[in-house]
Amino acid sequence: MSTLIDFHSVDKSFYKGKESVKAVIGANLTVKKGSVVGLVGESGSGKSTLGKMLIGLEMPSEGSIQYAGAPLWKNKKFIRPRPGEIQSVFQDPQSSLDPRMRVKEIILEPLFALGTRERKEKGSRERLTSLMKRVGLKAEHLDRYPHEFSGGQRQRIAIARALITDPSFIVLDEPTSALDVSVQAQVLNLLKELKNERNLTYLFISHNMSVIRYMCDVIAVMYKGRIVESGPARKLFESPRHPYTKILLSSLPSIFEKKGPALSFAPPAEVDSGEEACGFFERCPFRMEACLKAPAFESITEEHGVACHLEG
Ligand code: SF4
Ligand code: MG
Repeated sequence: MSTLIDFHSVDKSFYKGKESVKAVIGANLTVKKGSVVGLVGESGSGKSTLGKMLIGLEMPSEGSIQYAGAPLWKNKKFIRPRPGEIQSVFQDPQSSLDPRMRVKEIILEPLFALGTRERKEKGSRERLTSLMKRVGLKAEHLDRYPHEFSGGQRQRIAIARALITDPSFIVLDEPTSALDVSVQAQVLNLLKELKNERNLTYLFISHNMSVIRYMCDVIAVMYKGRIVESGPARKLFESPRHPYTKILLSSLPSIFEKKGPALSFAPPAEVDSGEEACGFFERCPFRMEACLKAPAFESITEEHGVACHLEG
């Protein structure tokens, strides 16, 4: 598989008053074409910020992001190979769909970034109808408003909207987190099918390890702005290396066979860890003196890497 996206030492800082807060620190991540890369971590770990840099909503403060071999951000501008190439689906279909717009208008909206001819072609009635059917909705419902649909149906509308421009890559940020479990499974299956049919590439952001396991080929675990471990999904589930990854996996529901011994977070540290320490120090059951200096991210194999002194 060829590389579609390459993050190289990407930082993102925000200013809170005069203070700068680092939301993403030194992110290195490769996304292969046709793969599903899962980004997992608790809320505030930086995963949404990382995703937003790929859709033009946030600009990296440092480092570079390559997309199909060219920089995605250049001179503070977001540059895609073509309009509509990159799309997104967010968590809450309730708030991401404009309640005053009809479904038809919602789905067609992304086409406004395109030229007249392409807009006509891609927005034809025929295409709209087949897209509605493909995502599991009735073509007769194109004139309805979002409130007339269930949460799952609204998310199907959001998926149709993302597909209208024929993207190659979609950022899915907690796309099923607001849905009931049974509806969630249906939407996940739809996303899987669409990926295979259209050879899409996904960045799949979630705090739910079961969902991540079901969807992803590669997983990157984020903690406090850093990617602390990344690698092939199977590797991470079989032999997680970072203590945080181990804890995430130990709390998975038992539908997953090989369950290691349950780990839990450590009681608060007695020493003040200071600015230089490993970001996980306060909660790590394995912390030691060396951890007062942050570990570098090191490769274990070509595809699997981790940032932890236990691997030294
Ligand atoms: Fe825990 Fe130390 Fe590894 Fe950080 S570097 S995760 S504190 S063992
Ligand atoms: Mg988020």
